[in-house]
Amino acid sequence: MPPPAPFHPPCPLCGRPMVPGPSLNEHHLIPRTYGGRDTVTMHRICHAKIHTVLSEAELRDHYHTIASLRAHPDIAAFLRWVSRKPPEFIDRHASGRGRRR
Ligand SMILES: [Zn+2]
Ligand SMILES: [Zn+2]
Repeated sequence: MPPPAPFHPPCPLCGRPMVPGPSLNEHHLIPRTYGGRDTVTMHRICHAKIHTVLSEAELRDHYHTIASLRAHPDIAAFLRWVSRKPPEFIDRHASGRGRRR
């Protein structure tokens, strides 16, 4: 009998399992710059997308809930794309290139 597969809680943003390790990150719902203290654990790639799309002021004013983040058109498109990727997927090319869409 194989051991039971470990349970990994779903990412609040994309809903894929969160496997402990370098593919995970903490996001401040209210940016620390504005005194936010509450964090949520999510995929590093999901987290990077949030900060690619939204400024800290936008996060503070309009996107400080998971529901509002998921409703953003750019993030919704990303979630459709990332849903086909493995849970521990890290896009090494996603940051640092200044790619604009
Ligand atoms: Zn995710
Ligand atoms: Zn963050």
